[in-house]
Amino acid sequence: MKVLVTVKRVIDYNVKVRVKSDNSGVDLNNVKMAMNPFCEIAVEEAIRLKEAGIATEVVAVSVGEKSCQEQLRTALALGADRAIHVEAEQELESLNVAKLLAKVVEAEQPGIVILGKQAIDTDNNQTGQMLSALTGMAQGTFASNIEIKDDKALVTREVDGGLQTIELAMPIIATTDLRLNEPRYASLPNIMKAKRKPLETKTVEELGVTIKEHTKLLSVTPPEERQAGIKVADVAELVDKLKNEAKVIG
Ligand code: AMP
Repeated sequence: MKVLVTVKRVIDYNVKVRVKSDNSGVDLNNVKMAMNPFCEIAVEEAIRLKEAGIATEVVAVSVGEKSCQEQLRTALALGADRAIHVEAEQELESLNVAKLLAKVVEAEQPGIVILGKQAIDTDNNQTGQMLSALTGMAQGTFASNIEIKDDKALVTREVDGGLQTIELAMPIIATTDLRLNEPRYASLPNIMKAKRKPLETKTVEELGVTIKEHTKLLSVTPPEERQAGIKVADVAELVDKLKNEAKVIG
């Protein structure tokens, strides 16, 4: 069984995000970029399926500018066998990404596609669900456990206040939640080996997808700056300030 795993290049989660002065978006100039953390979990799960003898091949795919090949090389260093880069110069909304991924799924015929539950830059949480609708494959979203037995998959989902386990008919789409696994680090020898692993490039035209804009980003605003705190002498002063200044208690 083949596993297709998606990898998005996003701003590194340790970086303090700066909003452009005209509020048109986030400033990405000279900012450290990285693999989306939920995609790291997706890659780890794919590799574990291969190590367990369930998967025979792990294919990583990324849609975006040429620079996203860096994250594909990371996926290869972590253990993916080959990579596919779908070239797209502009930032694409989830539906367009899902349409491109659907074409890759059609060509590759994976038994399972593993995506992150969301990309931490746009926080859309849409691509996996849309890919499921476009391909007709069953979906197990927010997965904290994935078990594959022959032609069925058991996916445990993180839902409000607990866990839900569902049985899906293969092939499936899964999206990863935080507790699914703890991703490994790539070793130096594997980083070197990854440079020689196959990385194929495809264009949007080759995949036969027309990119349509359905959503327009109107503005991005940073959160309000927090006011500096003050020290109070004792509980009585705290209660007084909460009551009479902040007016949050009666
Ligand atoms: P989103 O729906 O944008 O929050 O993204 C959910 C997941 O879809 C991400 O964690 C990725 O695994 C995948 N994904 C979204 N955009 C891309 C992209 N440009 N290239 C590869 N995978 C993507």
